[in-house]
Amino acid sequence: MDSRYYPKHECGVFAIYGHPDAARLTYYGLYALQHRGQESAGIVSATEANSEFKIHKGMGLVSQVFTEGELKHIEGTRAIGHVRYSTTGSSNLKNAQPLVVDCAIGQIAVAHNGNLVNASLLRDELESYGSIFQTTSDSEIILHLMARNKEGSPAQALSRVLGAYSIVLMGENEIVGARDPFGFRPLCIGKKDDAYVLSSETCALDLIHADFVRDVEPGEMVIIDDKGLRSIRRETPMERQAFCIFEYVYFARPDSLLNGVNVSSARVRMGMELARLHPVEADIIVPVPDSGNYAALGFSEESGIPYEMAFVRNHYMGRTFLQPSPLIRDINVRVKLNLIKTAVKGKRVVVVDDSIVRGTTARARVVNLREAGAKEVHIRVSCPPHRNPCHYGIDFPSREELLANQMTMEEIAKYLGADSLGYLTTDALVRACALPPERFCMACFNGDYPIRQPGLSDKLALERRPLKGKPLVAVDEVTQRLLL
Ligand code: AMP
Repeated sequence: MDSRYYPKHECGVFAIYGHPDAARLTYYGLYALQHRGQESAGIVSATEANSEFKIHKGMGLVSQVFTEGELKHIEGTRAIGHVRYSTTGSSNLKNAQPLVVDCAIGQIAVAHNGNLVNASLLRDELESYGSIFQTTSDSEIILHLMARNKEGSPAQALSRVLGAYSIVLMGENEIVGARDPFGFRPLCIGKKDDAYVLSSETCALDLIHADFVRDVEPGEMVIIDDKGLRSIRRETPMERQAFCIFEYVYFARPDSLLNGVNVSSARVRMGMELARLHPVEADIIVPVPDSGNYAALGFSEESGIPYEMAFVRNHYMGRTFLQPSPLIRDINVRVKLNLIKTAVKGKRVVVVDDSIVRGTTARARVVNLREAGAKEVHIRVSCPPHRNPCHYGIDFPSREELLANQMTMEEIAKYLGADSLGYLTTDALVRACALPPERFCMACFNGDYPIRQPGLSDKLALERRPLKGKPLVAVDEVTQRLLL
């Protein structure tokens, strides 16, 4: 396992080439991607070929980080932007993206969504050659790899990294977008007039009136410069893909299109599947807003039981997951939602939520409902039980903290105080997402990790390295071994 701690990247990336208002459009693009990261935001822009990069980044929401004056300062015709959501302990401005370096091949900026699994190995190797790292972010590794090869080729640099990456890069003359060969995280291409746009999700294209062109394919790199867009693909495509199915369940915005499938429709179908798998006699279907809204709608449609928005969400809250202590997490869970008591009093209630991770949220909801006089409380979850951590960019706690690892289904229902509990199966979830199962990574549910985590033997292989400063063959062998 990686011994060094790297912040994870649940993030959003955006880029635009060839527009006089590139920075401002990136600012709005990041606004639309805010749900993918609320910890920090940043934009790097440039006006002409070879002109100096302008950068502004800060901690907090997009609206807090940028003022009118700062946007004016970073005006340009090409720009990349990033919103970042990291795990606790790693939050500092140094790790905020885009990261920028000025090296022998010129200026390069990178914004990355995903998690590299061989980050520790590569960093050890690069440090042994004398690279000095400014951050603890694994994204910086990509910059160092580029800086080390003579042409600064992103393709060559990316051939060394393993794991999940949807990245946008800005060079002296171009913008580059790339997805890892498994395609863990989304990235799409849009067009606004003559300008090209890259974005984690299509909802950002809608906002700036850009047309959706297509997704960047897994293993594809697109290079956008004054000659237009050209694409470089792997010679041999991977046998399987590994798009994160949790993007459909929770992470992506409902108005986005992922792999051609609308997220809200997939969520409605998840609710329908859930109603068929775990039917229950009840009076009302209540979503846990906002993440359970669409699945609850599907459950209601399929079961014929009325939909009732009994929980009212306080929209001025951050996500509860960021809170480090159990007590504060618990308070945050309660302050976020209030219940319309008259809507549930004396009723048999089905609560629909997208997922149960530690169980804090669901437990608090049941207490609320009981206190308000609900007669029965049935929990329905629109994904399978979470049993495994994510190595590819979603922030889940360790195996030990995941509720479904600690208890049987009956014990979970009892712990949550529910009259019944029902999860979706992986088969039903895949059906709801309307794509074949070999397109998805479902490791958090089924433990089938597409890329192995580096282990001790890989470290040992590395230690058989030749003299410092000489090219290392061992790392590539190690990298190969991680692809099962
Ligand atoms: P918990 O209280 O730990 O069971 O958290 C479950 C709730 O957190 C669910 O209702 C989800 O909407 C939300 N959630 C699930 N996964 C994540 C994540 N990786 N980051 C933030 N929130 C999440």
